[in-house]
Amino acid sequence: MWRLRQSGLQRFSSYRYSPEQLSALIKRGEIKLSVFNERLRVLMRSEDSSPVNGAALLSDYSADELIFLGLDESDTPCFSAQVRDDDLELDNDADWQDLRLLLPLLSDEQVAPLAQAKALHHWHQNHRYCGRCGARTKVDAAGHERYCAECESRVYPRTDPAVIMAVTHKDRLLLARQPQWPPKLYSVLAGFVEPGESFEQTVAREVAEEVGLDTQRIDYLGSQPWPFPCSVMIGFYAGTTDSNVTLQDDELEDAFWLTAKELEAALREGSIELPVPGAISYALIQYWAQQQGVTIDG
Ligand SMILES: [Zn+2]
Repeated sequence: MWRLRQSGLQRFSSYRYSPEQLSALIKRGEIKLSVFNERLRVLMRSEDSSPVNGAALLSDYSADELIFLGLDESDTPCFSAQVRDDDLELDNDADWQDLRLLLPLLSDEQVAPLAQAKALHHWHQNHRYCGRCGARTKVDAAGHERYCAECESRVYPRTDPAVIMAVTHKDRLLLARQPQWPPKLYSVLAGFVEPGESFEQTVAREVAEEVGLDTQRIDYLGSQPWPFPCSVMIGFYAGTTDSNVTLQDDELEDAFWLTAKELEAALREGSIELPVPGAISYALIQYWAQQQGVTIDG
C-alpha cells in the first residue's frame, strides 16, 4: 500500500478560527511541533529517523505563528513551524532532511502531519503578496488562509492535481524516464491536469503527447497527496492496443515495454531502479507485477 492514503490525523478545522481554543490546546499539555527550514526540509533525529519535536526548541512561539494541523491518534495536537536555518542551533543528533526520501522510513502516523505541513509551508512561501492588488498578505486561520487587508480578499491553499498512469499492452508495462532523473531510474507516466479537463481526459492526452499511444481503457486505482511541492497524484491503469511507442516531446528520454518477469530480472541485475517504495508510482508497478504473478518488494 502506498503512503498517505489514510491518515490518523483529525483536522478539527473549526479550531482554526478560534485562537482561544488553540491556545488552550497548547497549554493543555504535550504538543507535537514539526519544524521545516526555508528549503522545506524537515528537522529529523539522525539516529532513529523520527521527526524532532520542536515544542521545546521553539518554546517562545505563540499560537498565531504556528500552523495547526489537527489531533493525532493519541489525541496530541500537531502543529508545524517554518524557521530560518540560523534561527535554530542544532545538536549533533538532528539534521534537515528531504521528506520524499523519508517516505518509506516513516509510519503513516508520522508522515501524514509532515506532508500536510510541507504543502502548507510551500504555499505560504509562495503567496506572500496578494494576486489581486499586490499588497502583502498575512497568515490567517491558524495557517490555512491568507488575508489581504488592502482589498479584503482571502486566499486558500491550493493543491495541483496530477494524473499518474501505468500504461499496459497485453502482459507488458510501459516504463519511461526523464533526462533529469538519477541514472537508471524508470517510472510510469504522469502529468498535470489542465483547466477544464477531466482526469480521464488528462490520462488520454498525456499518454498521446508523451509516447504517441491511444488508450482504450482507463481504470482508477487511488490517489496520494504528494507535497513535492503541492500536488495530489491520481493513479490509473491505462490499457492500449497499440504498442508502437514514439517519444513525442523532450520530456522523456526513453520508454520501453517489459513483462513482469523481465522487470524482476532487470531489478535483480540492477539495470533499472524504480521510484521510492511508498509512492503511488511504485504501487502501480508493484500491483501490476503481482497480477502477473511476480512479487516485487520495496
Ligand atoms: Zn489585495
